[in-house]
Amino acid sequence: MTAEERQELLRRLPKIDELVEKVRAQSDLTPLSEVMLKDLCRKEVEKVRQTIKRGESVTEERIEDHILRQVKERIENLTDFRLRRVINATGVILHTNLGRAPLGKKIVKKITEIAGGYSNLEFDLEKGERGLRYDHVRGLLQILTGAEDGCVVNNNAAAVLIALETMAKGREVIVSRGELIEIGGEFRIPEVMEKSGAILKEVGTTNRTHLWDYEKAIGPETALLLKVHPSNYRIVGFTNEVSIEELVHLGKRTSIPVMYDLGSGNLIDLKRYHLLDEPTVQSVVAAGADIVTCSGDKLLGGPQAGIILGRKDLIAGIMRNPLNRALRIDKLTLIALEATLKEYLNPEGARQEIPVLKILSEPVKEVKKRALLICRRLQKRRGNKINVHLWPGKSLVGGGSLPGQELETILLQIELPGLTSSQLSVKLRQLPVPIIPRVEEDCVLLDIRTIQEEDIEPLVSGLCSLIQN
Ligand SMILES: *Cc1c(COP(=O)(O)O)cnc(C)c1O
Repeated sequence: MTAEERQELLRRLPKIDELVEKVRAQSDLTPLSEVMLKDLCRKEVEKVRQTIKRGESVTEERIEDHILRQVKERIENLTDFRLRRVINATGVILHTNLGRAPLGKKIVKKITEIAGGYSNLEFDLEKGERGLRYDHVRGLLQILTGAEDGCVVNNNAAAVLIALETMAKGREVIVSRGELIEIGGEFRIPEVMEKSGAILKEVGTTNRTHLWDYEKAIGPETALLLKVHPSNYRIVGFTNEVSIEELVHLGKRTSIPVMYDLGSGNLIDLKRYHLLDEPTVQSVVAAGADIVTCSGDKLLGGPQAGIILGRKDLIAGIMRNPLNRALRIDKLTLIALEATLKEYLNPEGARQEIPVLKILSEPVKEVKKRALLICRRLQKRRGNKINVHLWPGKSLVGGGSLPGQELETILLQIELPGLTSSQLSVKLRQLPVPIIPRVEEDCVLLDIRTIQEEDIEPLVSGLCSLIQN
């Protein structure tokens, strides 16, 4: 590009006010204020100006049309909802990237009912004075887990952080080397420990730790014995870990509190559903752990939250910690958590109302029924234009829970003529209700286990819309 051509292009850049006028004229659905719209236009014009100055060609079309289109795209990006409902067809039940636990309908209804108005979040209706937000779930936590007391924070990472900070800041915490885990997303026990100001004292080896390892490490600076559930992996083979019972015994003998970071927050005996054994919160509390922490949105199946259970005096200390203000649970979460916990008062009911439990415990023959229903609906709408096959397969629990647990499932393989599996995946993600499939060996598979009843209609419409007559 010659210097003159560049000058000519720069001269043709539209004036901001004119551009704003044109955007307004072309789309009546611009909710943006004058200031915001001007700002967007200015930025887009500036981008093009810089491109021209670098001597790069801008666009085939007229510069003004190009900028207009860019501005309109930016407006759409801002006005369309970015955070959206998707259909989880991956078969990973607690999918960290897809929002972990979906909430039950009754629970969502409670949120809309309460959160739209004022509430007694921190108001004691009986006494007519200030109340504690934690009191709304305290009684439920006590009865469901058997713990003396309980409180809740933003998530389990926060629960671990505040518990360590309260009980062990500047002092030593003894942990087995086999339990120095990373959960993903920056949660690593040694690093959380450091942030809390506690001093990590690791004992034992990666695969074997014995009670005497803890015993030998105890000294005047020991504040806490910490056990961590290695949630997302399993050590097999020549191994030894010290049970929570043994640790509690040692803690009692030496007057050192014992904390168990349990991770998943499982409240029901999963063996009933022929799943791998996973310690329940109740069993760990009953074993005598002084503090137990777990997540609200893993196997518990509720909202993102951190649940802290245990001795009254320790819980009181944690609630008084100024960090609690920074980590405190939000109103929406608290409503969802109270509603979720209430379902557990009747475990069979919980299985119906809490999607994670339902998905986890659903017999494969029910999954198959749903798969056949989807196939029938597809055929009814599209004849044989869409290629589908059903295969038996395995779903995963995910979310750092029950590693190695496979659940029988049905996979629906879809093919569209002329599209590779990655092209088809892109199309699925672009649907009004995006479908996130599983791609294995170049096949696009929809795992029916994680596809819920209310997903069927948008799923079928979405798939049908991909086929041009
Ligand atoms: C998942 C997990 C955490 C982190 O919990 P979040 O609720 O994701 O913050 C901490 N510890 C263990 C053992 C876990 O499994």
